[in-house]
Amino acid sequence: MIINDWPAAIAHIDADCFFAACERLRRPDLAGRAICVLSSQDACIVAKTYDAKAAGITTGMPVWEAKKLMPQAVYLPADFRFYGLLSDKLFAILRRYSPQVEAYSIDEGFVDLDGLRSYWRMGYGEMGDAMRRTILEETGLTVSVGVSVTRTLAKMASEANKPNGLTVVSGRHIAEFMSGQTTRDIPGIGAKRAALLEKFGLRTALEFARAPEAQVQRLLGRSGMDLWRELNGKSLFGIETHAPLPKSMARTASMGQRTTDIRLVRAHLSHHCFRLGMDMLARGLQARRFTVTLRLGSFERIVRTENLPHPTQHLHVMQRAATHLLHGLWQPGMECNACGIVATEMAPADNAQTEMFVTETREANDLPLWQTMQRMRNRFGSTIIRPANTLLRPSTPKSRSSRFAYPLFVCK
Ligand SMILES: [Mg+2]
Repeated sequence: MIINDWPAAIAHIDADCFFAACERLRRPDLAGRAICVLSSQDACIVAKTYDAKAAGITTGMPVWEAKKLMPQAVYLPADFRFYGLLSDKLFAILRRYSPQVEAYSIDEGFVDLDGLRSYWRMGYGEMGDAMRRTILEETGLTVSVGVSVTRTLAKMASEANKPNGLTVVSGRHIAEFMSGQTTRDIPGIGAKRAALLEKFGLRTALEFARAPEAQVQRLLGRSGMDLWRELNGKSLFGIETHAPLPKSMARTASMGQRTTDIRLVRAHLSHHCFRLGMDMLARGLQARRFTVTLRLGSFERIVRTENLPHPTQHLHVMQRAATHLLHGLWQPGMECNACGIVATEMAPADNAQTEMFVTETREANDLPLWQTMQRMRNRFGSTIIRPANTLLRPSTPKSRSSRFAYPLFVCK
């Protein structure tokens, strides 16, 4: 395997213990203590610091089990809005270095650095290090960076030196790097596939990469072949700069009480429509198909779906559809304790077709209003404004909403 030093250059940036690190940033009083972040229902662990990991706590573990292992750790409810703000900052920094950035997850991204050496007047490794240092300086978060010639190698490289590490694997150093990695370290090779490879004597990533093509094809099929090529320095997976469209978006919640009053259900449903609409607006999405779901006192779930003639992100169109669906589902004497709305058949909102279909002027005129409401929510918190038709619904308790009220800070 002899390839040029840099036939391509891709960096993989991965924040270290991201959710826990975010919490540590705004709670300096927790310095030195283990932190576990809980899922939205506070049921299981979604993130933890390295010391909690060392104590045996894993992601997905139920809280009671984790507390047995580490009673002295701090257990905090997740605040995805806060993590999202820091994630936006992190990606904004990456986009300064290259226009080709893929947000792979909330705390992980790929950056195409190919050809930027002369622009930045530095090597690819130095660019990786500059991104790592800038993120630390401006957000206070540590990230681990891998720079290599393919996505798979870059991801393995960032993983190899955590936290706050930099690993540079140029074409010349691939073999040396892979001899220290097991097949299990290859992203896309799980325990099962690694066990299969081991049976054939392939333990290190290098042994896998040097295995004959036909053997890899036989053992792991096409996806294995793709990995094999990427490990051999042939870049197959480029940078995906456009986020894929979600298949669906939903807002559902328990009402905190049982009710036979359709007006109360309607107020809750309007609230969910409002939150969904604000999210769709923020993400530049629209949907054509809406489903209302109700959970009855008997825990039975009933649903009804409507296809609109054209996709929409207009709140009152969604609310009208939701109200219509609710009335279609509702029977006298029905007792309901949870409701929600699901949008499917998503499309980007900024295509010219939308405007062509908007026949009601009210829809077009409303858009600036929703956008203003969204800006107010972004600035002052999600409880600052709500539609009048949600007023019957008790407002969100203050303790919970105040979690979103924090200044955005810059660490020195
Ligand atoms: Mg991470």
